[in-house]
Amino acid sequence: MKLILLGAPGAGKGTVAKRLMAIDGSVQISTGDILRAAVKEGTDLGKKAKEYMDAGDLVPDDLIMGIMEERLQEDDCKAGFLLDGFPRTIPQAEALKGVMAKLGITLGGAINLDVPRDVILDRLTTRRTCVDCGAIYNVKSMPPKVEGVCDKCGGQVVQRDDETEEAISNRLDVYNEKTAPLVDFYDKEGLLFTVTSTSSDEVVDAVKQKLGL
Ligand code: ADP
Ligand code: ZN
Repeated sequence: MKLILLGAPGAGKGTVAKRLMAIDGSVQISTGDILRAAVKEGTDLGKKAKEYMDAGDLVPDDLIMGIMEERLQEDDCKAGFLLDGFPRTIPQAEALKGVMAKLGITLGGAINLDVPRDVILDRLTTRRTCVDCGAIYNVKSMPPKVEGVCDKCGGQVVQRDDETEEAISNRLDVYNEKTAPLVDFYDKEGLLFTVTSTSSDEVVDAVKQKLGL
């Protein structure tokens, strides 16, 4: 499948992407994960991106498009891809359209995860992430077996720098202003599929049904 996952921070894009990936071998491409890895490694990209990310602001479109144009040409994308956290602005969506046309890729759809704001806020403040492998935990509903230690790789499980209350509130504002307009954009392209469930299982089932899987 070749899909875009749309939705506010905390809507469950990553979780849904991972489950869809298991169905047909499509790869999850998370621009957030790519950027966090770059920050951790201290690459040029990471140095440029860090300040924006910590504040909960978007990284400039040209940096993101540079990453994604290359990423989409890697071999593993041939089996399909789930774009998680990209595109995030109308200029990114327009640019993606151009890149796909150039590479001869046809998009299957844009899945819009429509989750109420109170659910989102609760999820984001209780979310914890492994600094090494990116595994996601939740202090209330899914804590690691040993506090602060990743079940999967033993890495440190922490609150992300952009998961302070201030940065979260900014991320949601940025989402409403810059990213929410993509719902209309993909609706006009005839590619939009909105799912309102807050259960990732139900979302995955709805997507499978829609795609006839
Ligand atoms: P979430 O969806 O939970 O907000 P992500 O991991 O997708 O988190 O993104 C974290 C941060 O990385 C964003 O707040 C932003 O600074 C940056 N980022 C990720 N994807 C993009 C993108 N497509 N365009 C601009 N900035 C991005
Ligand atoms: Zn880990």
